[in-house]
Amino acid sequence: MSNPHLNTMLSVVVVTLFYGSAGAAIPLQQELLKTIKQSAQEKVTGKSATTPEEEIAIGRQIAGNLLGASPLVKDAKLQQYINHVGRWIADQSERPELAWHFGVIDSADMNAFAAPGGYIFVTRGLYQSLRSEAELAGVLGHEVGHVIRQHHLKILQQSKLLDLGSQALAKTVGGNDKAQRMIGSGAEIVSRALDKDAEFEADRIAVVLATRAGYDAYGLPAVLQQLGHVAKDEGSVALLFKTHPHPDDRLGKLDSSMDERFDKVKGKTLEKRLYHIP
Ligand SMILES: [Zn+2]
Repeated sequence: MSNPHLNTMLSVVVVTLFYGSAGAAIPLQQELLKTIKQSAQEKVTGKSATTPEEEIAIGRQIAGNLLGASPLVKDAKLQQYINHVGRWIADQSERPELAWHFGVIDSADMNAFAAPGGYIFVTRGLYQSLRSEAELAGVLGHEVGHVIRQHHLKILQQSKLLDLGSQALAKTVGGNDKAQRMIGSGAEIVSRALDKDAEFEADRIAVVLATRAGYDAYGLPAVLQQLGHVAKDEGSVALLFKTHPHPDDRLGKLDSSMDERFDKVKGKTLEKRLYHIP
C-alpha cells in the first residue's frame, strides 16, 4: 500500500516556497530574496543575517502550504494537547521565545515535519502509533531540535544554486526561465533529506529536552525501536525512511551517546495522559 501523498505534499511545499503560489507569490518571493541576499552577506561577514522575523515568515509560509495539502485533524482537544506538550518541550530549549506551533495533520503516513521558526507537525499515522506522552515528547523534541539548530534554514542559506538563482531573480523579479530553473534546483536540494549528522543531532537534542521536561529519556528510543520493526517497503514509512537514517542506526547512535546519566533520571512515561484520538 503506497501512499505518495506526503511526498507529493512536501514537493508542493518546497516548490511553492520558491515559486510562490498565485496569490501570495510576490511578498514571499521578496521575503526569500531578502533572506537569501543576507545569506550571501553572511558568507562575507561570517555571521548569520537571517532575522528571527524572516525565519518565522519563511516557516509560516511552508506551514500554510503544508496545511493546505494536509489539514489538521479536526479535534480541538488533540491540537490543544499537542501544543501543550510541544511548548513544554520547546520551553526547555534555548529558543523558548519562538511562537511555537504544533499540530497533528490528517495523514495515514508515519512522519513528522519541522519548518523554520517553530512550526511542527506530526502525522495522524505516527501519532496513533505512540503509547505514552514521553514518546510524543521524544518525537516533538526531535523536530524542536531541527528548528533550534536551524537545519532546514541553513540548507536554504547554504545552497549555492539558491545564491545564483537569487542573483538572477534579483535582476528580473518574477523571473526569467534561467532564474526559475536555478531556483527549481534549489528546491530539489531542500526537498532532499538533511544530512545524517543533523538527524543524529536532533535525536540527541530530543532526549535532552524530554529529560529536562521531566519525561522518561527513553521515549524517542522506544518510538525508533517500534519504527525499526516496520518493513522498509511499507508505504506509510516510505518518506520517513527516505529522509532519515534507518531507525536502527539512529538507535545505535543514541545508544552510544546516552550514558548512565539518563538511567539515573527517573522521568515519567505518562501512558495514561496520552490523548487518544476517538
Ligand atoms: Zn529529522
